[in-house]
Amino acid sequence: AKSAGGNRFEVADPEADARAITRHGLTTALPTALENGEFFIEYQPLVHLGDGSVRGAEALVRWLHPQHGVLGPDRFIPLAEHTGLIVPLGRWVLEQSVRQAKEWRERNGGNGAGRAADPLRINVNLSPCQLTHPGLVQDTVEILERAGVAPDALCLEVTESALIGADDDLLKPLRRLAEMGVDIALDDFGTGYSNLANLRRLPVSVLKLDRSFTQGMQQFPADPVDLKIVEGIVSLAHSLKLTVTVEGVETGAQAEQLRLLGCDTAQGWYYARPGPPERLHELTLVDATG
Ligand code: C2E
Ligand code: CA
Ligand code: CA
Ligand code: CA
Repeated sequence: AKSAGGNRFEVADPEADARAITRHGLTTALPTALENGEFFIEYQPLVHLGDGSVRGAEALVRWLHPQHGVLGPDRFIPLAEHTGLIVPLGRWVLEQSVRQAKEWRERNGGNGAGRAADPLRINVNLSPCQLTHPGLVQDTVEILERAGVAPDALCLEVTESALIGADDDLLKPLRRLAEMGVDIALDDFGTGYSNLANLRRLPVSVLKLDRSFTQGMQQFPADPVDLKIVEGIVSLAHSLKLTVTVEGVETGAQAEQLRLLGCDTAQGWYYARPGPPERLHELTLVDATG
C-alpha cells in the first residue's frame, strides 16, 4: 500500500544503500586486489568471417573477489577509472595479454600447421584515462619489447565516445602507436553519434561495430534499416581501408548476414564465450587441422 506516510519512510532505498556500500567496498579493495593477484583475464576469439579461422582474441579482465566471487568489468572498471587505478590495472592487462600472445605465437609457429604466416593477434581495451596518461606510449613499447612481440600483434581498442571531439593532444599518442604498427580499433562503433567524415582524422584501422547492430540481424529477414546502416558503414570503412569487426554474434544466421554485408571479422558467443587462454589454443589447433 502506497500511503503518503509510507512513502515518507521509503526515501532511503535499502537496495540503493547496499549498492553504494558495495561500490564503496569495491573501490577501497581495488588497490590490494591488484597487489594480491585477484584479477584475471579471459580471451574471446576473433574469427575471420570469410573462412572461419581464428585470427586473434580480445582480452577481457575479471576480478575474482574473495567475498563476491567473479565480478565482470562493468562492475569495477568505472570505479578503477574514478580512482585512477585503471592506469596500473590497464598496464597489467596489457602486459599479461602481450605475454599470452607471445605464447600462442610460439606454440602456433611450432606446430607447422600453416599458421606461422598469419600469427594470432591480441586486442586490449584502453580506457580514456589511459589515453591521457603520459606514459602510454613508453609503457606499451616497453611491454612489447620485454615480451619480444612485434607491434603489429597488438590492437588497442578505444571507444568511439572516448574519441569524439578528440583534439590533437589526445590523438598524438595513438598516432605514435599506429606509426609503430599497433592497430587502433574504434570500439562500440555506431553508438557515439560521431561524424563519419571525422573518421579520416583518427589513426584507426579497425571499426568494431557495436552489438546493437548485430542484434538487428537476429530476425529473418533482418531489420531493413539496420541492414542499410551496416551496409553503409561497411562500404565507408572499406573505402577508408579500415576493417570491420562485429561484436555480439550469437547465431549462425547473424554471422551469415554480417558476412554477406561484407564485415571482415566477428566475435561472439556463437563462436565462443570468453574463456581461459588454453581454450583459445585448443580452438586454433582444431582450426589448423580441420
Ligand atoms: P567491450 O569491449 O564492448 O567487450 C565486449 C563485451 O561483450 C564483453 O563483455 C563480452 O564478454 C561481451 N560479449 C561477447 N560476445 C557476446 C555475445 O555474443 N553476446 C553478448 N550479449 N555479449 C557478448 P565483458 O567481458 O563483460 O566486458 C564489458 C566491457 O568492459 C567491455 O566491453 C570493455 O568496455 C570493458 N573491459 C573489459 N576488459 C577491459 C580492460 O581490460 N580494460 C578496460 N579499460 N575495459 C575493459
Ligand atoms: Ca572491446
Ligand atoms: Ca565493444
Ligand atoms: Ca561495449
